Amino acid sequence: MKDIGKYKSFFLIGCAECASLCGTGGDTEIKEMSAKIEDEGKTITGKFVAKTVCQELGTKVELKKFKQEVDDSDCILVMSCGAGTQTVVEIYKDKAVYSTNDSLFLGNMTRFKMFDERCSLCGECIINKTGGICPVTTCPKGLLNGPCGGCIEGNCEVTPDRKCAWVKIYERMKRLDMLQEFCKITLEAKDWSKTQKPRNLYAMEE
Ligand code: SF4
Ligand code: SF4
Repeated sequence: MKDIGKYKSFFLIGCAECASLCGTGGDTEIKEMSAKIEDEGKTITGKFVAKTVCQELGTKVELKKFKQEVDDSDCILVMSCGAGTQTVVEIYKDKAVYSTNDSLFLGNMTRFKMFDERCSLCGECIINKTGGICPVTTCPKGLLNGPCGGCIEGNCEVTPDRKCAWVKIYERMKRLDMLQEFCKITLEAKDWSKTQKPRNLYAMEE
């Protein structure tokens, strides 16, 4: 928090989606953060949990009713992912905006509040050839054409508490009677230019 030491008043923004579920930016955390900041003798001018901070237009509309509170603050703290924080940066171009969170990855929610990384958004999906399981993401080495030599009793040598991605692919394709296809997997090196950042997309209606 030393980055924000010079500011005296804050407006806090949380997110009702992932950040709330992860316990990093919902009502409870916003209240805790407010209390911490006030304990340091600083002021909270207002706080609000947006529906989905990364949705820029919606957040902009929701924030209109907090104009005064935002104007009264020296700094906005966003308790969401980096994408959500950048929504707020975009909306308040002349205001100091800081993120409170270290965003890790896009996750599948496997159980309530438990997330698992399964897709790295590579822009060139190959899972139709690998039984629907992504080796780019779920194999720590991102191997495309079968396992490395380090698999230990079916588990990954890098993350031994997890099954080897390629064992999972094999087992699934076997269950689906697709071992012939499994044996023919010969994926070419991926075209990583598709992951060149920053990417943008206009999802046109048909
Ligand atoms: S191959 Fe893996 S990382 Fe790429 S889009 Fe498909 S699931 Fe995502
Ligand atoms: S053991 Fe399997 S999942 Fe782990 S790095 Fe090797 S191929 Fe990838």
